Amino acid sequence: AVNRTVHPEDTLVKVGNITLGEGFFQVISGPCSVESEEQIVQIAKAVKESGATLLRGGAFKPRTSPYAFQGLQETGIKFLLTAKQETGLPIVTEIMNQTQLPLFEDVDVIQIGARNMQNFDLLKEVGRSKKPVLLKRGLCNTIEEFLMSAEYIMSEGNSQIILCERGIRTYETMTRNTLDISAVPLLKQKSHLPVIIDPSHAAGIRSLVAPLSKAALAVGADGVMIETHYNPSKALSDGAQTLDLEQFASLMKDLKKRAAFE
Ligand code: PEP
Ligand code: MN
Repeated sequence: AVNRTVHPEDTLVKVGNITLGEGFFQVISGPCSVESEEQIVQIAKAVKESGATLLRGGAFKPRTSPYAFQGLQETGIKFLLTAKQETGLPIVTEIMNQTQLPLFEDVDVIQIGARNMQNFDLLKEVGRSKKPVLLKRGLCNTIEEFLMSAEYIMSEGNSQIILCERGIRTYETMTRNTLDISAVPLLKQKSHLPVIIDPSHAAGIRSLVAPLSKAALAVGADGVMIETHYNPSKALSDGAQTLDLEQFASLMKDLKKRAAFE
């Protein structure tokens, strides 16, 4: 069970040679969408150089409009695998339905996006796989519902689950969503799973990504997932919340400085 009273020990999620949940702050980074082989490889190299330990990139994109860029799909996964091969970074990418699972064979972490948090058939199917799952909180879901979705995955035998707080809908319109910072300690108290924050989707605004990342570190999150691109203004999705590679490098320096006690 997800509940800490049933299972008191922290669950460690192992991805390649990194572990989430053992007290080290991990940074996942990469573009919102994989756009080309050159794009994902170049961004992967840069974020690795800055200290990211996992590469993100969407191949199947859950877009609000059916006319918006839907992702490179299977080809996007192929390009992610090239970036993984060139950098050694493990990869995380979103699955939208269970029929796509065979394409995820060489993907290191399967992401379930906010919009699919209560797609129970999908949760059960990834629960039957042995791969780590990055489960994002739904736009309008409570912490209790979020934990029950993790329970669906775990009930099928997979406890390698990373919980991701990515902001929720509130009456506030100045940000894309409202980062629920309390969710981090609550999820860590109520469950034994690693918890990360996605400041990019929470804020929707580039200038808030660094301060919210520092908040993630301060509140005891196991990491952050940050969208990056070499040219955010040309990104095919979520450019407004995407850091360029220099901004990402300087945020990483700042986070390292804050994490070090000397
Ligand atoms: C994403 O991380 O690519 C994404 C679509 O985020 P969310 O599901 O949180 O909206
Ligand atoms: Mn995005």
